[in-house]
Amino acid sequence: MKKIKLIIASSNEGKIGEFQKILPDFECIPQSDFNVSDVDETGKNFKENAVLKAKNAFIKTNLPSIGDDSGLIVPEINGEPGLYSARYAGENATDVDNRKKLISELKKRRLESTYAYFFCCIVAVGINDKEDFIICDGKVDGEVKIFERGDKGFGYDPMFYPKGYSESFAELSSLIKNKISHRGIALRNLTIKLNST
Ligand code: IMP
Repeated sequence: MKKIKLIIASSNEGKIGEFQKILPDFECIPQSDFNVSDVDETGKNFKENAVLKAKNAFIKTNLPSIGDDSGLIVPEINGEPGLYSARYAGENATDVDNRKKLISELKKRRLESTYAYFFCCIVAVGINDKEDFIICDGKVDGEVKIFERGDKGFGYDPMFYPKGYSESFAELSSLIKNKISHRGIALRNLTIKLNST
């Protein structure tokens, strides 16, 4: 059976790989295959940014599209890096730069480890030729630590230790990460909604 094409409004390869693994019944295509570039994240929250991304990909490709916006929230440091997780250390920051900045913020407050969570909002548009937005979210609790461990995943994975596990996200297999992660939870909620539309 031919798979339904889903445009993924992201240029983050780590994320695109996770989408394809969690949505095996769809053909997940990065928006860059259609020469669509990232839209400015001007929303006030994760949901507004996810809507902006999904809408932009849908308008430019006319194919079912999904946008997601996610980030790491550390309440002890006023919710940082939060909405700015991807560019915490500056506009063109790498994952390494962002983790370095977070570790230095934690050290400034003498925190070796503190409660944190990842949040993800996913928006789909153009499903079954409808222009309605389907919105889902997911959250995973854990701790951020100033010690980095593991080499899998992306972003803040080496310093995030999900609740109930002694390993960091970067040490866990993708199977386990996708089962418990904010994005995995949001995407499974999305699958349920997609199957009922
Ligand atoms: P977005 O592309 O604007 O949603 O940026 C999300 C940013 O949050 C990423 O670039 C990462 O820095 C961080 N992030 C989101 N999800 C994850 C994850 O599963 N692991 C590690 N970092 C993540």
